[in-house]
Amino acid sequence: TYSLGNKIALVTGAASGIGLATAKAYAAAGASVMLADINAEAVKQAADSLVASGYTARAVTCNAADLDDVAAMVEETVATFGRLDIAFNNAGIQNVLAEIADATAEDFDRVTAVNLRGVWGCMKYELQQMRKQGSGVIVNCSSIGGIVGGAERANYHAAKHGVLGLTKSAALEYAARNIRVNAVCPGLIWTPMVDAMVAAGQKEALEAMVQGVPMQRHGKAEEIADVVLWLSSDASSYVTGQSISIDGGLTMR
Ligand code: NAD
Repeated sequence: TYSLGNKIALVTGAASGIGLATAKAYAAAGASVMLADINAEAVKQAADSLVASGYTARAVTCNAADLDDVAAMVEETVATFGRLDIAFNNAGIQNVLAEIADATAEDFDRVTAVNLRGVWGCMKYELQQMRKQGSGVIVNCSSIGGIVGGAERANYHAAKHGVLGLTKSAALEYAARNIRVNAVCPGLIWTPMVDAMVAAGQKEALEAMVQGVPMQRHGKAEEIADVVLWLSSDASSYVTGQSISIDGGLTMR
């Protein structure tokens, strides 16, 4: 595995699923980890359990869609650990299912506020710190929804396409300043978000999607965390502005 010894890492949406698996992978690789999430109780529990396992971790409550919260999250990370080397901007919410002709502006704004503007807001404050330091690595969480369209899921897919635009733009802005910015595009990963989609009546659509996965199965959160860890480490030191699909082959055809 890749070493993050002495690095300071921040993960948003760290109380569950892909974010939690990545916070664990970062900690196991030697990083001190700030876990951020809108769910105050769950994120505290997640950080406490990492500390109980002998790792260095803290929790901060943060709504990634709220700029003041995000500024405070970065400030708290630097106040606690002294710097910010790595950020995984992962907080996200599921789609709101509706045809565009029937969809509401409120639903569109709610999804994009977290999944797109939230990533922009996090990068804004993370980059202020990294620019000052003259170093840093950012990984943004997009989706296969950032690569292909999604009928009745335009809000989510538009946001995730946008994350790739943000990633490339930030990578260009900071490439000469020792800051790398990349993205991951998870496919069908079994997390509590997928449980929520099943509860919202999307079970059949999900099953049909899994049948279309060349590897014929869901992915695990840990399989995303492993790639995020690589992108966050010096092992990917010449990689910037890229997105990596981790989807069992779903988007290759
Ligand atoms: P999850 O629901 O298990 O975890 C998401 C976490 O983000 C939760 O702890 C939640 O409390 C937190 N969160 C939600 N809104 C937030 C906000 N405004 N501010 C801060 N935290 C917030 O979901 P997951 O499946 O682990 O998803 C993580 C990321 O991966 C999301 O960006 C999602 O879009 C993306 N993704 C997931 C899949 C999948 O199949 N699970 C596929 C592609 C992309």
